[in-house]
Amino acid sequence: MTDFTMTKDAEGIATIVWDCAGKSMNVMNFDAMMLLDGMIDDALADEAVKGIIITSGKKDFAGGMDLNVLADLKNASGKEPAQGLFDGIMSMHHALRKIERAGMDAKTNKGGKPIAAVLPGTAMGIGLELPMATHRVFAADNPKAKIGFPEILVGLFPGAGGTTRLVRKLGAMGASPYLLEGKSVAPAKAKSAGLIDEVSADPMADARAWVLSASDADLVKPWDARGYKMPGGAPYHPSGFMTFIGASAMVNGKTQGAFPAAKAMLSAIYEGAQVPFDTALKIEARWFTNILMNPSSAAMIRSLFLNKQALEKGAVRPSGVADQSVKKVGVLGAGMMGAGIALVSAQAGMDVVLIDQKQEAADKGKAYSAAYMDKGIKRGKATPDKKQALLDRITATTDYEALKDADLIIEAVFEDPAIKATVTKAVEAVIPEDCILASNTSTLPITELAKASARPDQFIGIHFFSPVERMMLVEIIKGKETGDRAVAKALDYVRQIRKTPIVVNDARFFYANRCIIPYINEGMRMVAEGVAPALIDNAARMLGFPVGPLQLVDETSIDLGAKIARATKAAMGNAYPDGAVDEVVFWMEDQGRIGRKAKAGFFKYDENGKRLGYWEGLGDQFEPLEDQPDLTEVQHRLMFAQVLEAVRALEEGVLMDIREGDVGAILGWGFAPWSGGPLSWLDILGTPYAAERCDELQAAYGDRFACPDLLREMGEKGQSFYGRFDAKSEAA
Ligand code: NAD
Repeated sequence: MTDFTMTKDAEGIATIVWDCAGKSMNVMNFDAMMLLDGMIDDALADEAVKGIIITSGKKDFAGGMDLNVLADLKNASGKEPAQGLFDGIMSMHHALRKIERAGMDAKTNKGGKPIAAVLPGTAMGIGLELPMATHRVFAADNPKAKIGFPEILVGLFPGAGGTTRLVRKLGAMGASPYLLEGKSVAPAKAKSAGLIDEVSADPMADARAWVLSASDADLVKPWDARGYKMPGGAPYHPSGFMTFIGASAMVNGKTQGAFPAAKAMLSAIYEGAQVPFDTALKIEARWFTNILMNPSSAAMIRSLFLNKQALEKGAVRPSGVADQSVKKVGVLGAGMMGAGIALVSAQAGMDVVLIDQKQEAADKGKAYSAAYMDKGIKRGKATPDKKQALLDRITATTDYEALKDADLIIEAVFEDPAIKATVTKAVEAVIPEDCILASNTSTLPITELAKASARPDQFIGIHFFSPVERMMLVEIIKGKETGDRAVAKALDYVRQIRKTPIVVNDARFFYANRCIIPYINEGMRMVAEGVAPALIDNAARMLGFPVGPLQLVDETSIDLGAKIARATKAAMGNAYPDGAVDEVVFWMEDQGRIGRKAKAGFFKYDENGKRLGYWEGLGDQFEPLEDQPDLTEVQHRLMFAQVLEAVRALEEGVLMDIREGDVGAILGWGFAPWSGGPLSWLDILGTPYAAERCDELQAAYGDRFACPDLLREMGEKGQSFYGRFDAKSEAA
């Protein structure tokens, strides 16, 4: 099996075709790169070859480096992993640099052979770094194709010369959206931005014509020509100085220093900009080694790419259940959640019946989809025809009869068990025998709700996060009697709407809310203790959380917190452990400071709801500590509050698969993505240290930090979560 094949034709063009056997998309590994390198040697040495074209045998060019290989690279790099990694990366640089220099004389820049890349479709990651090393890149005019460097999104940066080449081509400012945000664009935009050179209807013919007519000067990259200056200026040029200061501030502002890859990439760019090109590649390789040595990159690749994809492809779907794709979905309750659920279902091509008590309420729910599409039309992402087609799929009504041929019902009425029970009965009177009924409840146990159903094996939880159209996680909850077909139906539905599912067992607050609530509560406990609110929220943001716990409370509103606290207290009686939190919650509620919606909460707001800083009144009620705690102490409290809940969920069998615990945490509530998720974070800390830290936190702050038995045992045995529980290692 070879990933590359080369043919030489009568006109003297050697065509190298990349076509990974058994894969729908080309991905690169080290062996394939060396194979390509050998072919380049052959073609450069062959006098009959005038030029080379590198293209793909598939509809796309390439998706990037094989992330399975990258995730394991450190382990596979021998006794001195850093040196092994660096050598491996440098071997890629040498191969690509050889393509770029193509046999040219070092002094005169003459005598090289033209090399072009032809991209039939998508070219990402190293699938773009390779073309960028050639002399001219021709892309098919394929608006569906994506061109870009998504590495930063999985905790890496382009490490096969892409960082150095793009910055030298576009300047630091021009390159920043592609490198720092992982933005990818269609070929036409990629050409106008300068990522590629040509977009054409017949890129192969154009590339052949170019190769046969290219002059020596056409092959010399600007950075290999005399007098090269970086666009926008190098760091010590007055304009470059401003760019680099700005970029540094922007990266730190956006990431709060929590993502090692962004910082490392910026260092590679800054240091590399001040030295000759080949030295810059070496610097890039050193920083890339640094990132691959950091456990964060392997954890991010594992959770955000490999395991996320595995879950989307049905890793936890019950085997042996036939396809359960949904054709017609009934959504009960056209409020905030129901309206969003109707929208994403219609977007996936399903027929939707959207029901509420009054026709106006149902219409209002449908109007949400119209408004959403209008925004899309304004941004050029949708058309009036598409909007109409989507709206035609949604029937807004009060009539349950419209549900008689639905195959899935999702209930999103008020969070009240009695109302939900009434609705369940009313729906079951009309829906077909085999229809699955799902509740979007965020707090009520599915097993209890299923009691109102005549078919509890067909009753399940499908828990969305708000706003539905933006949040990528869907939590599927199995009640005690939920059957496999209901699980398969829920998973097939989530696949249709292109979100990521996790499947958990029924327990109070399921998985996500079970972990988020202690995070929020820990923040409020600290307020009661007199810890500065800015320290609490910033500690979280510096861990990579999108918002700190106090800001999160303001966004979701205190009255929701108070409602949950009252209900939990009623359910738990004397065992209720959160009195210290209630002191803050109920006092804030009494003050009318219920959050952003009231323009008053932990923050002050202006008329338009813009935050104006923390509210000083907080300090009058909860006297600020004279000695504020250390940042790490605050961060550990916030992290352990969540991760111990994740461990308990695993211990109790609520979580059935650690991959779901990690992927669900990052997608569900933005848990420190650089860590790979709560269980990955414990692996990074090391379970022995984590158990020890629990003991210290318990002694200082109370029993909520008591080390769960499972973590204690793992610490004693020196086990890691992925060593002990990973599906792959279990199977091995
Ligand atoms: P909402 O108050 O915005 O909407 C509820 C809708 O249900 C209202 O339009 C109401 O008229 C309708 N309704 C009430 N009784 C009905 C009945 N008998 N028949 C038909 N329609 C009826 O509430 P929401 O925020 O959309 O929440 C709905 C459900 O989703 C709740 O169970 C909630 O716990 C859950 N949920 C909410 C969030 C969130 O962030 N808001 C997140 C996840 C889950």
